[in-house]
Amino acid sequence: MRSDAEHVLKSSQDLSSIRETEPLDFALRFLELHDAAVQKEPGGLEALIPEELCARLGIPEHSRLQQDNPGNEEEPGSHFINYGSPLLEKMLAETLHRAPLAYCTLEFDYIKSGGFERLLRDQLTFYGVIASTETVADIRTRYLHMDIRYTAQCDEQKEGLLSLVHNLESKVFVPVMAGMLDNLGFRIKYGKPPDGSHQLVASFQPHVERCARIMLQEQLEPFRRSMERRLKRDVHNLGEYYRSLEQEMRANMDNPNLSENARQDRMAKIKTLPQELSRKIEDLQKKYTIRVRMRPVAAMLVNSPAKKMVCRVIRGRMSGQLSLIYNPVTRGIDPLACSKCGGSITHVHFNSELTPMCLECAGV
Ligand SMILES: [Zn+2]
Repeated sequence: MRSDAEHVLKSSQDLSSIRETEPLDFALRFLELHDAAVQKEPGGLEALIPEELCARLGIPEHSRLQQDNPGNEEEPGSHFINYGSPLLEKMLAETLHRAPLAYCTLEFDYIKSGGFERLLRDQLTFYGVIASTETVADIRTRYLHMDIRYTAQCDEQKEGLLSLVHNLESKVFVPVMAGMLDNLGFRIKYGKPPDGSHQLVASFQPHVERCARIMLQEQLEPFRRSMERRLKRDVHNLGEYYRSLEQEMRANMDNPNLSENARQDRMAKIKTLPQELSRKIEDLQKKYTIRVRMRPVAAMLVNSPAKKMVCRVIRGRMSGQLSLIYNPVTRGIDPLACSKCGGSITHVHFNSELTPMCLECAGV
């Protein structure tokens, strides 16, 4: 039986587009949020940082941040920002401590005003119905951008950051949006979160974490596979070792000088070998079990203009309506949420009441 969470994964659109957040991207957002003037440059960032923040981060007002690539030396006036680097740790701690929730409004000079019918056909596939756009209206909608830090611990440790964006109205996960918030083409105005924002985000957090856990399964697949290979190798070597140990002990028993007592002892010891081996294998399995910890480190509410598209869907004599959101950041239509499992879908099936569902929930 599949859990809802797995369902979300299976029905989410294009998971290959999900990427981990690089420490530099996180630093960029962090600094901009704290009113620094930041410019991207090859391999790093150049930032003019407000005095108070400098003191808290322990870096000068004018600083350059670099990703630590192998062979790089820290240049004067430049700071490495990597997993585990003191600067990133300070930023993460700061985010948790002082500003767990940021708020911003997006402003666009231009938002698409026509061609939605075509976009609908290109981006969503409806099964068993005829769909057409009825109305398109200007609205404002809110997205929640959440950074989640994870640590996967095993024989070795792997850590990283994930960024997820959900639409707060439709609750749908918008996989492609996380990497697009530093796009040119619109302005980001930061401000104070409106009343009730913290409660709103807190109530939404379990949904985001569930989604992150599923993303992480995908993300950690190579790590899991490499640990599995090591486990297999170690189990194999251990087996070989015990086999040769047993052979050696049996060969020793042919020694004519061995007393009867010693022979009995040896026999008893040989009998315990399989048990000992399986205990050692169990230990190895424990050693290679991956334990994952996650915690949200930053959240941002994004208030954005958008277009609400109302679509008519018709099947035989039945007719229904669907609301869709055109997202000017991704320049695409947000996926729909499956009405049963909540997974985000671009291949849309319908139940007998013409409510949208993913393939599995619709059971077709
Ligand atoms: Zn579903």
